Amino acid sequence: MSTVAAEKHGFQAEVRELLHLMIHSLYSHKEIFLRELISNASDANDKLRFLALSEPALYGDDSDLRIWISCDKTSGTVTIRDNGVGMSREEAIAQLGTIAKSGTSEFFKRLTGDQQKDSALIGQFGVGFYSAFIVANEVEVLTRRAGAPSAEGVRWASKADGEFTIETLERAERGTSVILHLKEDAKEFCDAWRLRSLVRRYSDHIGFSVLMPTEAAKEGAKSAEWDAANEAKALWTRPRTELKDEEYREFYKHLTHDFTEPLAWSHNKVEGKREYTSLLYLPARAPFDLYQRDAARGLKLYVRRVFIMDDAEQFLPLYLRFVKGVIDSNDLPLNVSRELLQQDAEVEAMRGALTKRALDMLAKLSRDDAEKYATFWKEFGAVLKEGVSDDANSREKILPLVRFTSTHTESNDPTVSLADYLSRMKAGQQLIYYVTAEGVESARSQPCIEQLRAKGVEVLLMGDRVDEWVMSHLREFEGKRFKDAARGDLELGSLVDALPEANAMAQTPETKAVLERVKKALGERVTEVRASVRLTESPACLVIGDNDIGAQMRRVFEAAGQKPPEVKPTLEINLDHALVKSLAATDDEAEFGEMAQLLADQAQLAEGGRIANAGQFVQRLNRVLGRLVAARAV
Ligand code: ADP
Ligand code: MG
Repeated sequence: MSTVAAEKHGFQAEVRELLHLMIHSLYSHKEIFLRELISNASDANDKLRFLALSEPALYGDDSDLRIWISCDKTSGTVTIRDNGVGMSREEAIAQLGTIAKSGTSEFFKRLTGDQQKDSALIGQFGVGFYSAFIVANEVEVLTRRAGAPSAEGVRWASKADGEFTIETLERAERGTSVILHLKEDAKEFCDAWRLRSLVRRYSDHIGFSVLMPTEAAKEGAKSAEWDAANEAKALWTRPRTELKDEEYREFYKHLTHDFTEPLAWSHNKVEGKREYTSLLYLPARAPFDLYQRDAARGLKLYVRRVFIMDDAEQFLPLYLRFVKGVIDSNDLPLNVSRELLQQDAEVEAMRGALTKRALDMLAKLSRDDAEKYATFWKEFGAVLKEGVSDDANSREKILPLVRFTSTHTESNDPTVSLADYLSRMKAGQQLIYYVTAEGVESARSQPCIEQLRAKGVEVLLMGDRVDEWVMSHLREFEGKRFKDAARGDLELGSLVDALPEANAMAQTPETKAVLERVKKALGERVTEVRASVRLTESPACLVIGDNDIGAQMRRVFEAAGQKPPEVKPTLEINLDHALVKSLAATDDEAEFGEMAQLLADQAQLAEGGRIANAGQFVQRLNRVLGRLVAARAV
């Protein structure tokens, strides 16, 4: 009995697109609608319980929060009802007609049109309420906001055809009923047995009873006899020993709406001075908004089983933002706010302990399952690495978790740990060598590591933008110092005996003269020109000081519109190289100068730098090539 005529509204364009995608990409995951709708019902009950903490009158005479699910074969409907917070007319229009999530446009950009890939993405995005349309060609929502009079009931309805209707009507009950008019190909869900088994799977671990008509009464949902189809015990409150892996996995899906299995979890109860339970999960896939500043992150916070807030980000550092989970505190006040969480010493201490737990979970995974750990590293390694610079206190725990690409393997997959590196160090080797560049492929071909490679000294290859920054915070690992192969003295120590006498050669008057001539030709372009022990194949490379800002950081500065401080490199020359030898034999000073500039140019290019005057470089190169061709023709 409607009191105001039904009003038509168009869905937001994004909702229309999402609906279309979902209906066409998720047909093989039909049953997820039930998880999403139970999850919404449970959220609604959680929200009411939270609001009632400060306003008990919201309960009216009904404080027993529950969820009811029934089906009716005659009408072909499934109904999911809760007595939670409900929605006002305005709320229903806004919440069931738009997507408020941050990063929505980013999500749509990522869609490929490939149903397989898109269905995984949609899962990550969280399909939520709209998943009802996977199984229903019409969805009705009857709802009433807690505290609102019965005259302010709301009926929302849509056939997923681009619009929905909304009307105000009388509704006796508080909370929400979602009525699904099943499509022909989804009639299988209109079966009490099937529903009950799905309900058990999707809701055993949530904290509210999910009631279904008792067996005897299952055909006629009008019967008043209902019984609980689930345990109705919040999963994290149950002892670890009692829980099956499958239950942990289901809870993860309920919590995150991600339908890929998590890689690992860690469930802990802390007793004593501070009491809380935590359940942390490691997802198998990076969310699309991992690098978005305003993306939701953090744990779901409960205080003594009462839901307090989603995304409590104070319990874990930013570099662990990929960890999902629940924290349930026995000590925090029920009226705790985000502001309070920020200042609370208790929370600070919990954050320290949870950080340790999360890192321990990663360490365990790296020991137990190399394959899963590789998946983790691929998805989140770059984020975890931020911790090396951001969290000095945890550095000792983070470093063994880092995986590198190195010259030891031909593959560019990051599989090498620092422990691996140490175990392969050469006799007499004192340092952990690494090189940074734009991409590991480019790192691998840096001239400055030629000698190290030739001598079988392993070099870590770093190609991420953050690497130079991260490494600048690292001094040593287990007593071995880190050394950037492109900086300062290579400090080969006793390894030097095994090297050609480049240094000795530099001492001859002839070679000294060449170095001086090159320096003169290059002038202010370099600080110094010296004989190199780094090179075996290339004629030259550029080297900077131990504390100079490197090429990667320079690019980061430039990308941010800042001008990095000027750094003048040293040019190192391979005196054994044919090109250098022929250079030494050149009397023509103009030709010599041009060749010297070319040496510096190509060294700069090899390290991924840009040459300020590329036109000039090409002219030089062509003149040299021209001379070469002319010499051949004679
Ligand atoms: P999410 O749950 O991630 O917010 P959904 O698409 O599942 O996204 O739901 C959208 C919104 O609709 C919810 O945030 C909530 O405000 C509202 N909503 C959905 N179902 C219910 C319900 N049973 N009771 C009250 N509000 C609901
Ligand atoms: Mg939801």
